[in-house]
Amino acid sequence: MSYCVNCGVELEASLKKCPLCHTPVVNPLQSNTEFPPSPYPTDKGQVEVVKRKDLGILLSVVLSATSITCFLLNLLVFDASLWSLTVIGCCICLFVFTFPAIFYSKTPIYVSLLADGVSVAVYLFLISFLTSSTTWFWQLGLPIVVMLTVCAEVFPLLSRFFPLTILPCSLCIFVEIPAFCVSLELLIKHLLNRPYRITWSAVVLTVCVIIDFALITILAKKRLRNEVRRRLHF
Ligand SMILES: [Zn+2]
Repeated sequence: MSYCVNCGVELEASLKKCPLCHTPVVNPLQSNTEFPPSPYPTDKGQVEVVKRKDLGILLSVVLSATSITCFLLNLLVFDASLWSLTVIGCCICLFVFTFPAIFYSKTPIYVSLLADGVSVAVYLFLISFLTSSTTWFWQLGLPIVVMLTVCAEVFPLLSRFFPLTILPCSLCIFVEIPAFCVSLELLIKHLLNRPYRITWSAVVLTVCVIIDFALITILAKKRLRNEVRRRLHF
């Protein structure tokens, strides 16, 4: 048994230096070449990396099996309502959301965002069959999905023309929020047959307009812009 000459820790016979203080282990009775072979493996054990294609096949099989079995269960056993449509819609959404990440990473961002919006709209449409009326889908659900998709599509579209740093992105977000809120309130009023008059969204609009003016001023004045960048570290 040997011990480190520096810190005194007990050393394994194969070690060439102390694991604690890294002092080289020198055995005066042995020549440098006579170290016993290290008992620890030198290569890291590694399993073969999973390919995207395999992952895609697994995901497709699981989602398809879930949809089909739930549909059959709905059809043959629990047939009081079309509950399986919610499961099928969920599987469609999951498949579409994960498609760019697993199957085809070169999907343009516009296309994948559009596909996401369409899949959510399909999901809501399927759910609408479980409710007494589909009016809510056509007058509220679908317009909300369309608005959110358009809001999301604006970012990749703008980034083609100029670099979207934090300030222009914030400005874009604070323009979209009030537009979305005002449209949402008007849609709700339309659905409920109430007069078209904005209330809560007017508050959101006011706050966002103030923020927008501040952001436009900062963007227009180079010194202000640089100061904000310096203070916020971006
Ligand atoms: Zn030591």
